[in-house]
Amino acid sequence: MIMDYDVVIIGAGMSGLAAGIRLAHFEKRVCIVERHYAYGGLNSYYKLEGREFDVGLHAVTNFCNPGDRHAPLSKLLRQLRLTRDDFDLRPQHYSEVQFPDQRLRFSNDFQFFTEEVHQKFPREIDGFLRLVARIRDHADTLDDTPWVSTRSVLSEYLRDPLLIEMILCPVMFYGSAEEHDMEFPSFVTLFKSILMEGFARPPGGVRSIIKALVRRFREAGGTLRMRCGVERIHCVGERAANLELSSGEILTTSAIISSIGFAETMRLIARTGNAVDHEPNAETNDHVGRLSFIEAIAVLDRRPAELGLDSTIIFANDSSKFHYARPEDEIDSTSRILCCPNNYEGHEAVEEGIVRMTWLANPMCWFEFDDAQYAERKEGLYELFLDQAGRYVPDIRNHVVFRDMFTPRTIRYYTGHINGAVYGSPVKHRDGRTPLENLFVCGTDQGYLGIVGAMLSGITIANERVLVANTRSEK
Ligand SMILES: Cc1cc2nc3c(=O)[nH]c(=O)nc-3n(C[C@H](O)[C@H](O)[C@H](O)COP(=O)(O)OP(=O)(O)OC[C@H]3O[C@@H](n4cnc5c(N)ncnc54)[C@H](O)[C@@H]3O)c2cc1C
Repeated sequence: MIMDYDVVIIGAGMSGLAAGIRLAHFEKRVCIVERHYAYGGLNSYYKLEGREFDVGLHAVTNFCNPGDRHAPLSKLLRQLRLTRDDFDLRPQHYSEVQFPDQRLRFSNDFQFFTEEVHQKFPREIDGFLRLVARIRDHADTLDDTPWVSTRSVLSEYLRDPLLIEMILCPVMFYGSAEEHDMEFPSFVTLFKSILMEGFARPPGGVRSIIKALVRRFREAGGTLRMRCGVERIHCVGERAANLELSSGEILTTSAIISSIGFAETMRLIARTGNAVDHEPNAETNDHVGRLSFIEAIAVLDRRPAELGLDSTIIFANDSSKFHYARPEDEIDSTSRILCCPNNYEGHEAVEEGIVRMTWLANPMCWFEFDDAQYAERKEGLYELFLDQAGRYVPDIRNHVVFRDMFTPRTIRYYTGHINGAVYGSPVKHRDGRTPLENLFVCGTDQGYLGIVGAMLSGITIANERVLVANTRSEK
C-alpha cells in the first residue's frame, strides 16, 4: 500500500517535531519518519543500569521570565500551543568563562554579565555596550547575506584581545560549525541566547521537553513512525515525488522537510532512471561539518554543590587564546566545557549528582580506531577527565559511582550526521531551500542552533515554506 501525506518530515529531533506540530495544527496530513527507536535526535535520552541520562542536554538556552511575551522562548511556546509548565524549565545558578588569569561569570540577568565585564575589563565597557547595542539591533533574516567575520566586528568595538577570546569561547563552543571564526548573524543569535537570555533545564531532563512535543504532535493529529529510515527521495524533474523507506514502503507527498542535515539529505536523492546516483556536489567539503565532541559523564554519590562546585556550566580555556578547530589528535584537552546538570533551581531533590565534561574531538581518529583501540582510548580519556575535573572538585575520584562516555562515533551511529558533526555544516541554508522545489531543510543546517534554535527552525520552515506557500497558491 502506498501512503500519501501533505508533508513528510524526515527526523524526529527537536526541529522535525516542532515543524510537525505546526503543520498538524493547520490540518495538514503530516507524517514524521524517524530511523531510530528514540525521539529527540542529537538531544535524546537513554537508560543505563537503571539510571536515566540525557544524551547531551547541558542547558536549554534562551531563558526568559514568564511575563516576557516577545522573547524567542515565549514565541516558540505560543507557536507550538504549549505552556511554560509543559517544559518545566528552571533557571541556572550561574555559569562562567574561565581563562588562566581571568574569570567572567554570567547568569540569566544580563546586567550581571555587564557588571562583570565592567569590573574585570573597565577600559572596555563603553565598547562592550556599543557592541551590545549593535547585537540588539541586528535583524534576523531568512535571506542569505554576505559572510561577515565575527572577529572583525568584535575588534571594531573591543581592544583587549582577552575579552574577545572570552566572549567567543562560550558562543563558539555552544554552536559554531565554523572553525577559528564564525559568521556574525550566527554569533548574534548565540550571544543573545547564551549570554543575554541564559540557561535553564527541566528537573526531569530533556525527556520532559521531548515528551511534551510528541504528545502535542499526536494530539494535533500527526503521524509519527519510528524505526522507519528514509533510504531514497525519488524525484521527477525538479520535484521530489516520493520517499522510499528502509522497509521498501513508498510514501507519496507534496512536500518534504528534512531535519537530518543538508549533505545527508542530498545523499538520499535519486533521479528517476538513475536510482543510485546522488545529487552532485552533495558532499563537497563546504557542506560537511568537521567538528565533533566527546563527552565524559560521571555520576557522583552526591550533588556537585555539596562538594563545593556551584556553577552550572564552566567554559574553560588553558591559555589566553581560544583555539576552536578540529584537533590534530583525538581531542583538544586545552579547552573544555564542564556541566553540572544539578546546579539549576529546583534540582535539589536528586540524591546522586552528575558532572559532564566535553572536549572538541577529531572524528576521523575515533572512526579509525578498531574496537580494542577505541575501548583503550576511552579508558585513557576517562583518566584525563578525572584529572581535569579534579581542578573543580578536588576529591572527585572518591565520589564517582558510575560513568559513561560518548564519542563522535556514538553521535554518527545514533543520528546519521556525517562526521558526528554536532553543529552540522559550516555553510547554512537559512532559507531552507534545496535544489528540489518541494524539499526543504530545517534544524542544524538551516542555521538556528541548539534546542530552542532547532525548534524555531522547524517552526519557521513549516510556516514560511509550507503554510505561507500554500496560502499563496490557494489565493
Ligand atoms: C552531546 C550534545 C550536547 C548538546 N547540548 C546542547 C545543549 O546543552 N543545549 C542546546 O541548546 N543544544 C545542545 N546540543 C545541540 C542540540 O541537541 C541540537 O542543536 C538539536 O537537538 C538539533 O536538532 P535537529 O532537529 O536539528 O537535528 P537532529 O537532532 O540531528 O535530528 C535529526 C533526526 O533525524 C534522524 N534521521 C537521520 N537520518 C534519517 C533518515 N535517513 N531517515 C529518518 N530519520 C533520520 C536522526 O535519527 C535524528 O533523530 C547538543 C548536542 C549534542 C550532540
